Amino acid sequence: MPETLFHVDQTKSMFDQDIPGHNRWHPEIPAVATVNPGDEFRMECREWTDGQIGNNDSSDDVRNVDLSRAHVLSGPIGVNGAKPGDLLVVDILDLGPISESGSIPGQGWGYTGIFAKENGGGFLTDYFPEAYKAIWDFHGIYATSRHIPGVRFAGITHPGLLGCAPSAELLGEWNKREAALIASDPNRIPPLGLPPLKEQALLGTLKGSSYNRVALEAARTVPPREHGGNVDIKNLSRGTRIYFPVYVENALFSVGDLHFSQGDGEITFCGAIEMGGYIDFGVGLIKGGMAKYGVLNPIFKPGPVEPHYSNFLVFEGISVEKGINYYMDGTVAYRQACLNAIEYLTKFGYSQQQAYLLLGAAPIEGRLSGVVDIPNACATVYIPTEIFDFDITPNDEDIKILSKGQVAS
Ligand code: ZN
Repeated sequence: MPETLFHVDQTKSMFDQDIPGHNRWHPEIPAVATVNPGDEFRMECREWTDGQIGNNDSSDDVRNVDLSRAHVLSGPIGVNGAKPGDLLVVDILDLGPISESGSIPGQGWGYTGIFAKENGGGFLTDYFPEAYKAIWDFHGIYATSRHIPGVRFAGITHPGLLGCAPSAELLGEWNKREAALIASDPNRIPPLGLPPLKEQALLGTLKGSSYNRVALEAARTVPPREHGGNVDIKNLSRGTRIYFPVYVENALFSVGDLHFSQGDGEITFCGAIEMGGYIDFGVGLIKGGMAKYGVLNPIFKPGPVEPHYSNFLVFEGISVEKGINYYMDGTVAYRQACLNAIEYLTKFGYSQQQAYLLLGAAPIEGRLSGVVDIPNACATVYIPTEIFDFDITPNDEDIKILSKGQVAS
């Protein structure tokens, strides 16, 4: 086991740790430790909301979650010798939930929530405006839920959020362009973006007047950006090698939002199977790698440790919603594919909310299948049929085979 460079006391909030992490992005958040290229190390993580969600049968905690505290991140770790323009090579050597069982997400269990419309909603907010929650129990590599019976699958463990600190210049760009987007429809619920927010800003060990200035500038952690950040890519699983753009001296690398499993798109927003836990990294550097390989956003090589499902039932969706054609809109097409899958699963006894939570949590594959056939984009959702205790494919006995001369009744 490599040395733990960021330790978390899981009985305490991230705000109360001896050395706290952070929940905003800013180049002036101080490094908690420094490593050399070639080093391997462990970081411990709180679940992304800092433990606001409980192992119970009520979704009140999801509805009332305080998002100004999220995402709590571990780090930043400084990498000696890293300079702007380099690529930081990060190997995800291992990750998993917290070893002991208990009341914190990651201690033998995790959760998937559907966000209510008032706190940002999810991918299908117009159809699911209320908060819901499913608790998942971990059995080694497998997950089951008392809230979604008849399902058991192997987790595709991965971090939802990781990357290097932005430079002051890049941070300024983020704030400028996101402010313009928010200003284009300032009263929208949910809002078009989340501007910097001093309330509940956790900036590591930064104190005093620097804290006050940085808290007003630092970017929120919700969107993915050029540095990676909250990408929520389920395939960043164990063994993955990621190449991150470096924008500041020593790179300042941070991680959080560990997931036991997730479907492509993390469609419920709150989200995958959320957990706290540990993650082991190895790091290296490619000097001048951003220019050498033309890398502006992270690139990665997926690891070898992923659940292998080979049988799927696939749902198509097109960019037509409520009778309106959305020209080549892949997001609308994916939403329709998900809604079609949910409608189908209700025929097998699941509620719409159970089916939605399942698509957010299980290792489903989402694909942008066609983007050129005007006017409709086509997206597909692949549900692995082996995760169910029963057959969810259309029953062969329903298929009428007609011999010549017969007429179907
Ligand atoms: Zn997450």
